[in-house]
This record gives sequence, C-alpha cells and structure tokens, in this order.
Amino acid sequence: MDTYEVHEQDGEYRFGVIFLFDEYTKSAFKKDLQEIIDYQSHKGFSEDKETRNKEIDLKFYNQKIPEISYDFFKQKSFEIFSKFFFYMMKNNKSLATSTEFNIQFKVTRIPNRDSYFYYDQDNLPSDEENACFIMSGSWLIHALVLPSVLGKSDFSLIQRYMLHELTHHYDGITKNLKWGNQYESKIRKFYRKKSAYFLNCLYTSLFNLREEGLADFIGRKNSPAIDIKMDGVKKYNANLLKLSTLTKRSESEPFYFNELSTGNLTPSNEYTMGRNMCLTIAMTLCKQMNKPYFIIISGEKISSKGINLNNLLSKDRPIYISDIDAKIFDATIERVRPLAHYQFVHEYEKACDELGIKDENRIMTRRRFYRIVSDAVARIKKEKIARLKRYKYAELDLKPLES
Ligand SMILES: [Zn+2]
Repeated sequence: MDTYEVHEQDGEYRFGVIFLFDEYTKSAFKKDLQEIIDYQSHKGFSEDKETRNKEIDLKFYNQKIPEISYDFFKQKSFEIFSKFFFYMMKNNKSLATSTEFNIQFKVTRIPNRDSYFYYDQDNLPSDEENACFIMSGSWLIHALVLPSVLGKSDFSLIQRYMLHELTHHYDGITKNLKWGNQYESKIRKFYRKKSAYFLNCLYTSLFNLREEGLADFIGRKNSPAIDIKMDGVKKYNANLLKLSTLTKRSESEPFYFNELSTGNLTPSNEYTMGRNMCLTIAMTLCKQMNKPYFIIISGEKISSKGINLNNLLSKDRPIYISDIDAKIFDATIERVRPLAHYQFVHEYEKACDELGIKDENRIMTRRRFYRIVSDAVARIKKEKIARLKRYKYAELDLKPLES
C-alpha cells in the first residue's frame, strides 16, 4: 500500500490525515503534470469565457515550472495538506464527527480538471471517525505543490472547499439530511412520470438551498466580507420559473445543472442563494444580540445600526457584509444545522420579517416555491388532459406532492 499517514493530538481530539496513492500511478502523475505544464505555457488554455469560469483557481504563475518528481510530489502534497488541515481543525472542531477524526484522500487522476476533490458519496465508506474523499492528483499539483515550490501558497480557497465538504460529511453522519433522502425517493417515484421531470430538479434546488447553502456559508467563515447581489437573486428566481416550463428531462436536467447548480459559478447559483439565506439569519441574530456588523456599499463602510436593509437591497447594487461576530457566525451554524429544507426557508422568512426585508427582495419563500410547483403541475395536467381528450383516451391523473 502506498499510504502516507500522520496524526496530531489536540486536547481531547486526535486528528489524522491519510493519503492513498495506490490508484495514482507514476504515469498518471506524469500525464497530469504535463497537462499543467502545457497549461502554464497557454497550451490547452481556453479563451472561451464559460470554460475559463470553470477554471477559477487555476492560475498562470508566469514562472518556469521546476522539475517535480513523483516521490517529491507525494511527500510534498501530503506534508503541506496535513499542516494546513491540523491548523484548520484547531479552529473548527465543531466539524469533527468524533474526537478521533481522520480525513482520508484517495488520490486519482481526474482528466480535464473535471473536479478537484469530492466527498465519496457513491460508496459511502465514511463513518464518525473517517471522512473519505476522492482527490484529483492534478489539483494537488496545481493548488498545493506548485504554489509551494514557487513561493505562492494561498490556503484561503482550499480552506473554503474543505469547510464546505466537511459540512457535507457532518450532515451525512449526523443524519441531519435524512429527511432529504426520504423526500427524494418520494419524488423519484413521482418522477417515473417523465412528463414532470423538472419537478425533480426544482426540489433538488430547494434541498440544496439548505444543504449547499450551509456548506458554503461555513466555507466563508474566514472571508473578510460576503457579497449580496440582488441581480443574482433575480436571475435565480427567473431561472427557477424557466425550469418549471421545461417539461422534458433532456431539457430540464442540463438547464438545472448549468444555470442553477454546479455548472453556474456566478452569483445566481443555488449555493450562493442558500449561503445568503444563512447570512440573513446571521444578520438577524446580530440584531437580536445587539452586535452590529458592517455593510460596504459603493466602497463606503457603514454600521448596521439603524440601517434600512430593504432599501439597500432595492438599489440593485452589490452590498458586502463584513465583521460579523465570530460567535454569531457559530450560533447561526448551530441554528441552521438541524433544519430541514422547508424549515430552513421558514427560518429565513422569519429573519426577513425581523429585518424588514420585503417579499420582492427575498431569495425564496415557502409560498413562492409552492406556487411555482403547483402552477407547473396544473399546466402539465391541462396539457395531458387536452392531448388525451383529443384522441379520445381516458384522462390520466398527476398527483400533486404534499410538502
Ligand atoms: Zn457541496
């Protein structure tokens, strides 16, 4: 076994980092390295804006790429990552699902930088003591080893990813999202009826507001400021409506992926929506506990005391929320963690009520979601009935879902 392993005691916690290189051969490494060297010399570099967006943290270093051997790569990436991980866990113990907490990375070649690393949800090997991930060797080269060798290490984005993924692990282990799975299987049954496949996407998006939203919110824990962009919110809602008209699976699935979910890296995706719903709940806690934060708008920094948030949001300019008290940040996480999808939206609505945010400036409401679904189901039903009637067949019923 080609395994690298290290542990560190931290009070009652014992953290471990394990890297498994068995599936990442020397030749796989060489292929990845060559791709990155090519990329650095602008070979295989795409001028296409959409493709570029997906390569958000693949930088040009504009320096000669030094020689990196397979063994050096393995040792170095393991070393850098463990140091970073122990430091990160010191400040985020609440994400550990056990006092004996190991993070395991199975390194593999993922061509075309399709993904960097992800929680192994297919095989579900994780348990309380072990959070298991699939890791791209290419990502280790370009995000850890190369910056370190060139003296340009930056862990802020890596930390954001890690906190995000560890939140999924935490939710999975503590079964916070069990309701989600149950609900999803219910929807799936409903969706055997291909005619309403988009409903699957609609509900997935609703789940993701809570699931990905909280993960993204936690990932932004150390960010100096978090942006709220109302044009993104409007686009999200417009896309959700559009989705509800795409009856065919072949249309609704790619649309959902590209415009609402992971394919969209702009501020109109569901991750950002969910994150800012958490942020709104945090702002309410700030108000209740009398801990003001700051709002940066057009370069001006103003205190949250006595501001009219709804007016600021109506102006359609991006605003940035900064200096949220760390304790409030943590309290928000604890508040959101046990909430199911609909409860989460409800909690967000209560937060908006308290902050005076009006319906048109809200990211999502239970009423709005229900209306999108019921309108779409009614429309489909009408279309079906008309079609069947036209050819003198019996009417088929499409049962609505209860929330
Ligand atoms: Zn995620």
